[in-house]
Amino acid sequence: MSTLRLVQVALPVPLPQLFDYLPPSGGSLPPVGARVLVPLGRRRLVGVVVGQADRSELPAGRLLPVIETLGDGQVLLDAGLLGLLRWCWQYYKHAPGEVVVGALPPALRGAAAHLPAPPLQYRLTSAGRERLQQPPGRAPVQYEMLAALAAGPCRDDALGSIGCQWRKTLAGLLEKGWVTGEPVPDDRLCAVPGPPLTRDQDAAVAAVMADIGRFRCHLLDGVTGSGKTEVYLRLLESVLDAGGQALVLVPEIGLTPQLLRRFRKRLGLEPAVIHSGLAAGERLAAWAAAQSGRAALVVGTRSALFTPLPRLQLIVLDEEHDASFKQQDGFRYSARDVAVKRAAELQIPVVLGSATPSLESLNNAVEGRYAWHRLRERAMQAALPSWRVLDLRQQDALGGLAAAALDAIGETLERGEQAMVFLNRRGYAPVLMCRSCGWHGSCERCDANLTWHRSAGRLVCHHCGSQRRVPALCPDCRADALVGAGEGTQQLEETLERRFPQVPILRFDRDATARKGVLDQQIEEVRRGHPCLLVGTQMLAKGHHFPGMTLVVIVNIDQALYSADYRALERMGQMIQQVAGRAGRSNKPGIVILQTLHPEHPALELLLKQGYEAYARWLLEERRLADLPPVSYQALLRAEAHDRSVTERFLKEAAAVFPAGGTRLFGPMPAIMERLGGRSRLDLLVQAGSRNELHGQIDPWLPRLRELKSGRKVRWAIDLDPQEL
Ligand code: ADP
Ligand code: ZN
Ligand code: ZN
Repeated sequence: MSTLRLVQVALPVPLPQLFDYLPPSGGSLPPVGARVLVPLGRRRLVGVVVGQADRSELPAGRLLPVIETLGDGQVLLDAGLLGLLRWCWQYYKHAPGEVVVGALPPALRGAAAHLPAPPLQYRLTSAGRERLQQPPGRAPVQYEMLAALAAGPCRDDALGSIGCQWRKTLAGLLEKGWVTGEPVPDDRLCAVPGPPLTRDQDAAVAAVMADIGRFRCHLLDGVTGSGKTEVYLRLLESVLDAGGQALVLVPEIGLTPQLLRRFRKRLGLEPAVIHSGLAAGERLAAWAAAQSGRAALVVGTRSALFTPLPRLQLIVLDEEHDASFKQQDGFRYSARDVAVKRAAELQIPVVLGSATPSLESLNNAVEGRYAWHRLRERAMQAALPSWRVLDLRQQDALGGLAAAALDAIGETLERGEQAMVFLNRRGYAPVLMCRSCGWHGSCERCDANLTWHRSAGRLVCHHCGSQRRVPALCPDCRADALVGAGEGTQQLEETLERRFPQVPILRFDRDATARKGVLDQQIEEVRRGHPCLLVGTQMLAKGHHFPGMTLVVIVNIDQALYSADYRALERMGQMIQQVAGRAGRSNKPGIVILQTLHPEHPALELLLKQGYEAYARWLLEERRLADLPPVSYQALLRAEAHDRSVTERFLKEAAAVFPAGGTRLFGPMPAIMERLGGRSRLDLLVQAGSRNELHGQIDPWLPRLRELKSGRKVRWAIDLDPQEL
């Protein structure tokens, strides 16, 4: 029999290890999943116990005791979740402590913090009723509180009006046994039933329901407006009615009041909302409600994935292709892939929904690993929009819009409908240049041009954020000849204002919607349905349902057609399809106009003529021929330093210590944008035919990398299944 006498603690430090500690002096061994305060060097840190052991590799003399077991040893992360986090740090090769402590809400990362107690309500006992039969006597306030409770149980905040010392009064009543406290029951609001399902929706719901209680991944591949959300709602209804909990993950920009309202109305409950934009207290309250099992439904963005949910029965991930599910710095993980892993561990179904599935998910569906449900028609008899390509070689596009596009916008407005203009570039012009000598404004710290923000009078780098005032004259030749080249959303707004002065124009980009609440206000305004024009970036592409929108103009996607990034065409197709999906979502037909210099590009032609699935299958075939993901598996070792030669030396040495095996190694090569924020970024790309092969060679490589002296002069990190090169 082994005697467990140590705990293994995950601490928020960037080291690839756990830390062993003895139990606190005079105390017992803290349980797995509890928080502890421990010494590390001169510091005291809050960590999470992830294991117990009977011996340590440290000599006994160097083992230190835990300073304090926090929260009375309450288990915050259950064994299942800790298992998932362990898988994460092993798979993504990230520091265990950062992974585990990062799963706690920020408010619980300090020693003084504690899990808030669940709200209670108070009820009269029979002894309390008897007391109420007697006259008030010398305790009128106590009597008043008893009388207030006679009508039924009350939450403590409702008792606050009774006397100025109501807490003391209440404590007295509890002590006398006249009143008891109990958890507040869920206030189930009245749920509004949904519409009868279409045949395809019904089949998808039935298939997922048949998998409740076992693992299966379902790809809900439904065109925009086909009723995917309605499918989620049906599934949630069933799971919640049966007493289970469910987790819904949405892209960062998808978590709108409109969506939450829809959930609330249809399900008759208040979802616990978790995302990184919440105040610490709000986030903690939602997390505690989920962790204790009180909240049946959690809706959140990427980071909500790690919320403990003791009765989790279903995970839904909406817009599964969305890039915001991948964390790009620190602990780099794919919330989509980890969601699938979590479902597999728990033996529950997971639903990935999208109108434009990622090639990874599509490939899994094609090869039969995922159940594949196609919804190819829009739910409310709405037809899919029709396409028109405007060849920009044959007409001018002054201020960004071709005459034919402006005419189409005018006609749409005359019919009392709405139109939107999409351009994935904010600011006024993507570059400011001199017509006389050819100078152009570029960032000193990045391989990028500075975007001209005309109203602010500034040149801004969209990559590192550095800014400067717009010069009056050309800095090189002193000529008064500076002009913008190309267009950004601000310029399009101006073009539209000039042409349609009476019509309200709403701009959707990061600059226009920086203030909290503006985005939601604008969405509400568009939904009211009066004629208006929208101009914006990919913010417009995500999930919004604008019933009056019948025309979408896509201004410029050409750079994606010839990008060095092999994922650029996939993203372009998704973007075009998602933006187009905003058109004609109710009874009026929608039109999408695409302006391009390359109307004959085969990729574009395929997408527009045959739709996203044919396009994506073609891309998949291309990836197969080139042996790229999802057919192969990649890991990226990225190093960065101010000095390119330092970065290069480290990566060359890293390549030299790469373990022998079947895996291919490419590089060192520059990142697609080599210089960013003053640092030079170079990569080694590892590529293998299977995950096992990949990990089998990376795992022994990492300790060798950590020993390289040249690694101390650079910042380096490894990115598994990288999305950006
Ligand atoms: P998606 O999530 O695929 O974009 P939604 O679920 O938002 O689609 O549905 C689009 C619109 O169609 C919504 O207004 C929704 O209420 C409606 N809808 C969905 N399913 C049905 C149905 N079976 N019958 C009638 N209307 C439906
Ligand atoms: Zn000049
Ligand atoms: Zn920059």
